[in-house]
Amino acid sequence: MPKLKNNVELYSGDEPIFDHFGVELEISRALGRKVWLKSGGYIIVDEAEALVAIDVNTGRYVGKRNLEDTITKTNLEAVKEIAYQLRLRNCGGIIVLDFIDMEKESNQEKVITALKEEFLKDRAKTNVLNMSSLGIVEMTRKRTRESLVRTLCEPCSYCDGKGFIKSKTTICYELFRELHRDQDDKAAEAIELHVHPEIADWLYDEEREMLEETEEKLGRRIIIKTEEKFHLEQFEVFSKH
Ligand SMILES: [Zn+2]
Repeated sequence: MPKLKNNVELYSGDEPIFDHFGVELEISRALGRKVWLKSGGYIIVDEAEALVAIDVNTGRYVGKRNLEDTITKTNLEAVKEIAYQLRLRNCGGIIVLDFIDMEKESNQEKVITALKEEFLKDRAKTNVLNMSSLGIVEMTRKRTRESLVRTLCEPCSYCDGKGFIKSKTTICYELFRELHRDQDDKAAEAIELHVHPEIADWLYDEEREMLEETEEKLGRRIIIKTEEKFHLEQFEVFSKH
């Protein structure tokens, strides 16, 4: 694109170019859920399948005096960051912004006006609707390319993209139910349990009593073997003769 020649400059520094211009930091900010604001507040960005939800928080205790002013200031600061993050993350579709509640209508208007002004800088087409009584603003943003997260990331293979895995207690109780369920092999002398090392520790430390009760009830010893390569939620039960 020879026409754009004047917009391009060769970088010949020794430092990696991403470090030199702080791009690495901006990318990590753009991929995280929590983005801090200078005032100590922060925003939480959740990119769901059908919509993006952004939540604004004050982050620390705000005194009763000038509460409304502090909140409005945080909301206005959030407006700039939200507009920047939406551009950077290239979010599209329906976007829901949850600002901190403001009592005065004039302050709500300030925030909406600031939002609309900020989005004038956006090359993508945006449409900001008014603020609901709960302080929620609905907006849309039209984009053509995939969002940054979809471009640079893939769903977490460990939690399957859910963002959560079962707690150790839940896994242990699932395991105990399985032990009670599957013991019609009367000839078995013991039960061998294969679990992730962290679950083995949890069984010994937190569930020892339940473990002993189960052994007594089933009339069999339970031998625990650890499997380094297991997923935390994974376990296997074998009868030993
Ligand atoms: Zn995960």
